[in-house]
Amino acid sequence: MKIAVIGAGPAGLSAAYQLCKKGIDVEIFESSDAIAGMVKTISLWGQLVDLGPHRFFSSDPRVNKIWLEAIDGQYQMVNRLTRIYYKKTFFNYPLKAFNALRGLGVIEAVHCVMSYVQAKILPIKNDSTFESWVTNRFGKRLFEIFFKSYSEKLWGISCRELDADFAAQRIKNFSLFEAIKSAILPQKNFKHKTLVDEFAYPNKGAGQVYDKMAQKILEFGGKLNLKTSVLAMQNANSKNLIFSSSCATYGVCDGVKIDETTIQKPINPYGNSKLMVEKILFDLANQGKLSQITLRYFNAAGADKDCEIGSKHNPETRLIPLAINSAKDGAELEIFGTDFPTKDKTAIRDYVHVEDLGRAHILAMKLLLSKNINSDFINLGSGIGSSVLEIINNLKKLGLTVNSRNMPRRVSDPASLVADISKAKKVLNWEPHYNIAEILQSAILWNERQLNLKKH
Ligand SMILES: Cc1cc2nc3c(=O)[nH]c(=O)nc-3n(C[C@H](O)[C@H](O)[C@H](O)COP(=O)(O)OP(=O)(O)OC[C@H]3O[C@@H](n4cnc5c(N)ncnc54)[C@H](O)[C@@H]3O)c2cc1C
Repeated sequence: MKIAVIGAGPAGLSAAYQLCKKGIDVEIFESSDAIAGMVKTISLWGQLVDLGPHRFFSSDPRVNKIWLEAIDGQYQMVNRLTRIYYKKTFFNYPLKAFNALRGLGVIEAVHCVMSYVQAKILPIKNDSTFESWVTNRFGKRLFEIFFKSYSEKLWGISCRELDADFAAQRIKNFSLFEAIKSAILPQKNFKHKTLVDEFAYPNKGAGQVYDKMAQKILEFGGKLNLKTSVLAMQNANSKNLIFSSSCATYGVCDGVKIDETTIQKPINPYGNSKLMVEKILFDLANQGKLSQITLRYFNAAGADKDCEIGSKHNPETRLIPLAINSAKDGAELEIFGTDFPTKDKTAIRDYVHVEDLGRAHILAMKLLLSKNINSDFINLGSGIGSSVLEIINNLKKLGLTVNSRNMPRRVSDPASLVADISKAKKVLNWEPHYNIAEILQSAILWNERQLNLKKH
């Protein structure tokens, strides 16, 4: 067997490296004249400079193992030093209370402390937006100085629309009070829980790990072609494309089942970017440049029979894996919103099994190849909504008890998102084979398999 890998960036090289180690014949095709993709280290003015990416960190021991193996001990642990440049002064990030207050000057520092005290006395009740989350922990003044413009540039939307989850992921368990406490009373082994203060850095820049990986691939007998673009679709004159889109393109559509004619008004960058691609494909198809079927997934869930494809995110944000994790480690599952206009007052979503999604792709491809289809858009869901409490109850029937805690609704969280799948039935002759209990069962097996992998 011979495997072609497209692109000699971190993903392509890591895949090729793993395959070569197993004795598989691999050939890499890279369009540019150098390897490492975005993680290049270039020589500039007599020194090595990383193009951008520089910090390697993974919570997955298997990924760390590959990295360490490739770099062969030629790295050092370095302190992470991130600073914000504001009004001609560098401020430590994560913020350190005294550093921040000293840098701001006495008057601004007093304003910040007052605004922090105000936030503690009168916190914003709805803690679910990025703005309210940070303001409640740092005070409005510090939010405006250090977080607002940075986050709005980074995510592209107002902090009032941005979910608090984004703040919680980056600055969780960090508060001005904790910072002041740790500055006054230095604590042994004090670590911000979600911030990695140290990371492994190759002696000759971030790109060195990929230089070494490429070298090892060649030693294993793999082939690497630079300046070789893979233009398979173009060369093969292939004009058929299946695009995986999302129900996130619809935005908030409460109450009714969503069909393909429902107006698309995404409310987050993910939904926006999917909709942008949908529009590009639609235009190209209209110009006769390609034929396309866009599949709009609702909540993809569960794992395949062999437990090779399942849901794994870090941090995990999806309800089913979160609920299973809670049941396993005893932590409370947060239920966001218990006052929705739904049967049990919790939010309803439409879960569809990954294997059902896979089957729909094959059917869509067959349809594209067999009929003269120019462009179409099809929802893929189960057509049946499950509320958060129903998921918890179903897990209980499967032997997992989830402890939960009620939380306020998150901003722009719709009460109910359920697909109308009549078009998929009619056009693709597709129907989901898995019900919610089977989806949950497969997700539980996947979770167990992941835990076993971690142990070994
Ligand atoms: C400014 C910046 C800072 C970042 N900082 C970090 C960080 O500190 N830590 C971190 O973990 N991540 C960081 N990232 C993200 C990281 O760069 C990416 O996750 C990583 O580069 C993805 O690797 P990749 O192989 O998927 O893609 P890429 O790095 O983009 O590599 C893809 C390769 O495929 C080639 N290619 C594309 N199309 C074709 C074709 N048709 N035929 C042949 N070859 C093709 C390209 O030329 C390229 O070499 C950062 C990204 C940016 C932009």
